[in-house]
Amino acid sequence: MPSYNNIYLSPPHMVGTEQNFIADAFNSNWIAPNGPNVIGFENDLKAYLGGHKHIVALNTGTSSLHLALELLNVSTGDEVICQSFTFTASANPITYLGAVPVFVDSETDTWNMSPELLEVALEHRIKHYKKPKAIIVVDLYGMPHKSDEINAIASKFDIPLIEDSAGALGSTYFGEKCGTLSSMGVLSFNGNKIITTSAGGALIVNQENIKDKAIFLSTQAKGNAPHYEHSSIGYNYRMSNVLAGIGRGQIEVIDERVNTRRKNFKFYKDSLSEFDFIEFLKEPKGFLSNRWITCMLTNSYELREKIRISLLKDKIESRPLWKPLHLQPIFKDCLCFLNGVSEDLFNRGLCLPSGSNLSDDDLNRIINNIFKTLKQD
Ligand SMILES: *Cc1c(COP(=O)(O)O)cnc(C)c1O
Repeated sequence: MPSYNNIYLSPPHMVGTEQNFIADAFNSNWIAPNGPNVIGFENDLKAYLGGHKHIVALNTGTSSLHLALELLNVSTGDEVICQSFTFTASANPITYLGAVPVFVDSETDTWNMSPELLEVALEHRIKHYKKPKAIIVVDLYGMPHKSDEINAIASKFDIPLIEDSAGALGSTYFGEKCGTLSSMGVLSFNGNKIITTSAGGALIVNQENIKDKAIFLSTQAKGNAPHYEHSSIGYNYRMSNVLAGIGRGQIEVIDERVNTRRKNFKFYKDSLSEFDFIEFLKEPKGFLSNRWITCMLTNSYELREKIRISLLKDKIESRPLWKPLHLQPIFKDCLCFLNGVSEDLFNRGLCLPSGSNLSDDDLNRIINNIFKTLKQD
């Protein structure tokens, strides 16, 4: 009887070199936020993202989104358009500022925000209330959103766009890195993401002076006086120098991580190709997904659940696709512009274990389990 390990959806995958950077932090006693690893990690990210953007390393992806909205002066009474098909952290920061999310459904090509519905939503809100203060679009599960179309609409209505690229580091859109596709981008380095700092995030902006303001706000908005003068409300959102050390080790292997996740995706897709009722999201021409999470679409809720429960019995973690935010109890009173796409994906879709440290044995164990369920069906 083999002793079965638990297989998780997307566990951390350490390189080993992280510890050198952490040792530097300890040896120099830079345990506080800020410090050489933070600056180093920002420079590494900047270079990786093409060198034309400014990066602020923060303590989570959620706080990075919060700060992005704060920098756009979102406040009480404002509306912010947000993709409905996403993790709740994409929309929660809207409410931290007293603003209200308005949800827009997805399109089938990318599972991200539908450009057509976005336009409908904007026209409606401008006619019946006022111009939304910002738009949050997501590169869900690593798949880039339709950047040209969404950017064109955002510019037409002159509304700032925030790209929630928390799960999409390493993905590209016609060669451009996700996170850099609009005026503001957000990354996450949470433990489940493609690379991790244990907990962490980053805000990506276009201008040095916006970066400076973000750093100011993320370090308690301390005014220039020996006693700390405060003329705005700040936050304690800067990345720790110890955790940035983990990031410096991790970013060195980002390309390998993308390759491995893409290989996982291909393994699942090829292994299940004989079942024509099982589908996987294709990359539109010019889109490259880091395949952070491999998502499988079945043809029914019942089959999805059968597969999930059978995996669970074998200590294999899987998870339904995100429950659209317009269906979440916390957002039940929010306006939404729908076409049924995200609800259908939620009903039929399953996230499969996608870690870059899955062994061949793990992958075979997962696929054999899914096969068993599909053959019964
Ligand atoms: C992970 C994630 C976040 C939140 O990032 P944290 O670093 O965990 O706060 C936000 N949006 C999406 C789409 C995510 O996947």
